[in-house]
Amino acid sequence: MSAELLDGKALAGQLREELAARTSALVARVGAAPRLAIIRFDAEGPSAVYVRSVAMAAERVGISPVVVMLQSDAAQVAVGEQIDELNRDPSVAGIVIAEPLPVGLSKTEVAARIDPAKDVDGAGPENAGWLARGEPRLVPATALSVMTILRRHAIPIAGRLAVVVGRSPVIGRPAAQLLIGADATVVVCHSRTSDLGAETRRAEILVVAAGRPGLIGPDMVSRGCVVIDCGINTTATGVVGDVAFEAVRGSVAAITPVPGGVGPVTSMMVVAQTIDAAERFAEMDIPG
Ligand code: NDP
Repeated sequence: MSAELLDGKALAGQLREELAARTSALVARVGAAPRLAIIRFDAEGPSAVYVRSVAMAAERVGISPVVVMLQSDAAQVAVGEQIDELNRDPSVAGIVIAEPLPVGLSKTEVAARIDPAKDVDGAGPENAGWLARGEPRLVPATALSVMTILRRHAIPIAGRLAVVVGRSPVIGRPAAQLLIGADATVVVCHSRTSDLGAETRRAEILVVAAGRPGLIGPDMVSRGCVVIDCGINTTATGVVGDVAFEAVRGSVAAITPVPGGVGPVTSMMVVAQTIDAAERFAEMDIPG
C-alpha cells in the first residue's frame, strides 16, 4: 500500500486563502498593507529561488515584498545600518535575510540586529531563546512548516516518538523544540549519531533535514511512520529530498514529496509570521 501524500503545494494554496483574508482584515483596520523586507546580497545567485518564492507568496496574500539588494561584499556596519533603517520603518512588519551572506558575516550576528518583533524567520538569538524556553514567538519558517504540515493533516504528535535528523539552527534544532512543545518524545540525530537507522526505525514521526540526497532508504523506516522530508538537493536528475522517495513511499504511512512538500509551506510561514507581527503591531496601536 502506498503512503498518504502530504501535499505541500495544496496546503500552501489553502493557507494562501486564509492569510489573504487576514491581510484584508488588517488593511481594513489600519489602512495599509504591511510590507516584508527581503535582504539579499547576490543579484542572480543561489538566493534567487528563495527570494522569488517568498516575494511571490507575500504578493499573493496582499503583502508588499520589498527586496533590498546589498553589495555581495557588504561590511557588517553597512548591513547593520540598513537593518536599523528597516527596523525604524513603520510600514515594514517583517525582515528576512536571504543566504548566502558576504564572506565573513555571521547570519546570527546579522539577524541579531533585526528588531525581534520583525524577525519573521526566527533567525535572531532572542527569538531562538524564547523557543528554547518553550515559549515560541517568531520561529524558523521551515521548522514551523513541519509542524503546520503535521497539524493540518491531523497527524497526532503528543506522546509519539519523533526522530529529527539534523540539528542546524535553521531546521533540525527548532523543529525538535517545537515537537517537544507539542508533547512528542524527541530524538535528535546528526552526523555523529552512531547508528542512524536504529534511531530512524523507531520513529513514529521522522523529520529529515540533513542535506544528503537519499540518506533515508526503505530499510531505515517503519510501517506507520509519517515522514517529513525537508531536504532540497540539486542533483543531475533534478531536485530531490533527503529521503529516497520512490523506495520509501511503499513502506510508510505518509510522506512529503520533494519538490512540493515542505518548501511551498515554508514560504507561506514567512508570510504568516509577517501577518502575526503586523497584527501585534496593530494591537499595540504602534506602527509596524
Ligand atoms: P545544515 O548543513 O546546516 O545541517 C545539516 C544537519 O544534518 C547537521 O546537523 C548535520 O549534522 C546533519 N547531517 C549531515 N549528514 C548527516 C548524516 N549522514 N547523518 C545524520 N545527520 C547528518 O543544513 P540545513 O539544516 O540548513 O538544511 C538541511 C536541508 O534542508 C538542506 O537540504 C537544505 O537545502 C534544506 N532546506 C530546506 C528548506 C525548506 O523550506 N524545505 C529551507 C532551508 C533548507 P552535524 O550537525 O553533526 O554536522
